[in-house]
Amino acid sequence: MKSHARVVVIGGGVVGVSTLYHLAKLGWTDAVLLERSELTAGSTWHAAGLLPLFNMSYTVGQLHKYSVDLYKRLPAETGQDVSFHVTGNLRLATCRDRMDEYRKYCGTANTIGVPFEISFGGRTLFQYAEDVAKTLVLASRSAPDGPRVFNLGGSKVSLDEWVAAIEAAVPGAAGLITVAPTELPFPADIAHDRLTELGDVPVTPYRDAIAATAAIYRRLAADGRLDGAQHGVVAPAPTRP
Ligand SMILES: Cc1cc2nc3c(=O)[nH]c(=O)nc-3n(C[C@H](O)[C@H](O)[C@H](O)COP(=O)(O)OP(=O)(O)OC[C@H]3O[C@@H](n4cnc5c(N)ncnc54)[C@H](O)[C@@H]3O)c2cc1C
Repeated sequence: MKSHARVVVIGGGVVGVSTLYHLAKLGWTDAVLLERSELTAGSTWHAAGLLPLFNMSYTVGQLHKYSVDLYKRLPAETGQDVSFHVTGNLRLATCRDRMDEYRKYCGTANTIGVPFEISFGGRTLFQYAEDVAKTLVLASRSAPDGPRVFNLGGSKVSLDEWVAAIEAAVPGAAGLITVAPTELPFPADIAHDRLTELGDVPVTPYRDAIAATAAIYRRLAADGRLDGAQHGVVAPAPTRP
């Protein structure tokens, strides 16, 4: 038995074994794994082996996405069948709160390049977050003589057009977002002209709003605050001061 090693990994569960595997891939071959019982004797032995691609957490979502890709290539790399079956899964939301949770999963999946389907189609109203914020500021500065209720404006476009605009602004997203044909029972027209009572309320055209949002991501990526490639956004080459 070796008495010295550059790295000693303690515990032969999925985390320890994976650590050893990735160290070896990086060329750290002077590494040993110590297991007090036998490999996978701990929690890993009990795990049902599910690897869902939806997640609340951006970081854990990345880990899952990476794991799916890894398990797919392991048989070819090792010559061993790892019994990995890509089956997909179906979850039913039985209340509105649960549906909100699923939408959050969708958003997280989208940011890490996992394909997902929007479960409705047809035309709907899109609001640009900056417009909403500016409208809110205008409303907070107005001094009405009583309560007021307004409809918030936006761009009414079909989801297909909206997805096309995303793909135009972010070519890396092409083909990742699909839209179901079922139309939402959305009113044909929503008057929001009363909002002008507040002042000059902005309604940024949806294509400009999507392009502006993509630009924010590119800027974050250029600043090193985001891995743009994971979002389908290619960061511009850094400019010299
Ligand atoms: C019933 C059940 C179902 C689950 N289903 C899923 C699932 O479907 N999908 C999913 O992603 N996760 C699932 N999990 C969670 C998953 O199993 C764990 O998160 C994961 O296995 C933890 O791996 P680990 O390597 O950190 O720990 P472990 O697998 O517990 O490994 C730790 C290892 O360290 C060894 N050890 C401890 N102390 C020492 C020491 N002093 N010296 C040497 N060795 C030591 C132990 O013997 C053990 O082998 C499930 C868990 C359970 C219990």
